[in-house]
Amino acid sequence: MANSTTATRSRSATKSNMETQILGRSRGWLERAADFIQRGEVVAFHTETVYGLGANAFSDEAVLKIFTLKGRPADNPLIVHVHRDYDISRLIDSEPPYAAALREKFLPGPLTMVYPSAGKVSKYVSCGMNTLAIRVPSSPVAQEFLRAVDLPIAAPSANLSKHVSPVTARHVYDDFNGKIPLILDGGACTGGIESTVLDCTGEVPRILREGLVTREMIAAVAGDCEVYHPKKGEKPKSPGMAYKHYSPRCETAYVSSAEEAIEVYDREKERGGTPCILCESGQISLLGDRNSLDLGGIGEQMAQRLYALLRKAEGTSSLLIGIEPKGKDGVMAGVLNRLRRAFGKES
Ligand code: AMP
Ligand code: MG
Repeated sequence: MANSTTATRSRSATKSNMETQILGRSRGWLERAADFIQRGEVVAFHTETVYGLGANAFSDEAVLKIFTLKGRPADNPLIVHVHRDYDISRLIDSEPPYAAALREKFLPGPLTMVYPSAGKVSKYVSCGMNTLAIRVPSSPVAQEFLRAVDLPIAAPSANLSKHVSPVTARHVYDDFNGKIPLILDGGACTGGIESTVLDCTGEVPRILREGLVTREMIAAVAGDCEVYHPKKGEKPKSPGMAYKHYSPRCETAYVSSAEEAIEVYDREKERGGTPCILCESGQISLLGDRNSLDLGGIGEQMAQRLYALLRKAEGTSSLLIGIEPKGKDGVMAGVLNRLRRAFGKES
């Protein structure tokens, strides 16, 4: 999965004087990463969902660097990442009976579990809340990195705030060239959308952010699973969900049929623009020879392709037109959530 070359790209015209290295699996790469982390630096690393921007969760200074680098709002908490043998009882206060079964079934994997915090990590990780979100990623690169540092690593997605999440090392480089010392390259992320965030502080597990581990999968293990939707005007339980997210840097339009997409596309073309249509595979043949990006046919495929396609479109199109896919269940719940946010249809 990880490439074996060591790529050092010179920095482009940024004010920073830091050289950003992209390191694939190679001699000494983990020691290098661990050294940066121990010195309070921020290191980006591959996970199976999206790339993360990691720092020592015990260090106030290191954690605050993440917020500054991303331009992340100060009330949007971070997920702590640990290796599979890390004893999380060191970080949490208590856990409900269903949590062990969920961990056994889904970890390592794309499931973040929110527990009552023991208050051991920097207070900036949870932005003053009394809970802590913990994730055990399955990516071998992430596991090796976390083992090498043997520390909880606070890590949000490695993109500038509001921008599309990164699913390749190059995406991270595009947002943070000259700003961070190192990106641990594990190739393209196979999951493609961020982890499911699950509130494990109540009697019944409750999904705060939908992802690849679905409500149906959790309910099959825990007996039940709720999905949290904040009421109008209420501060959401997962504060990050209140913010604009995943937005490509081009104009966007979101429609529900190929006919509507064609109308918008042709109007943009007449104006001299370079439109493009993003849709599920089944719609492509209805679009004639218009420029299109194929999201795929099933939820897992759409999750895997979505962010790379959004980043591609922002570099080549004046207007990206999204057609809402038809499916709603399973992984599609997470895909639809990201799509609607990317197209500004849900805040
Ligand atoms: P990102 O790092 O971009 O995947 O964002 C992390 C997500 O996890 C955000 O939506 C946060 O609101 C959520 N999160 C992190 N910590 C907590 C927590 N203690 N309680 C609830 N949600 C959390
Ligand atoms: Mg993010």
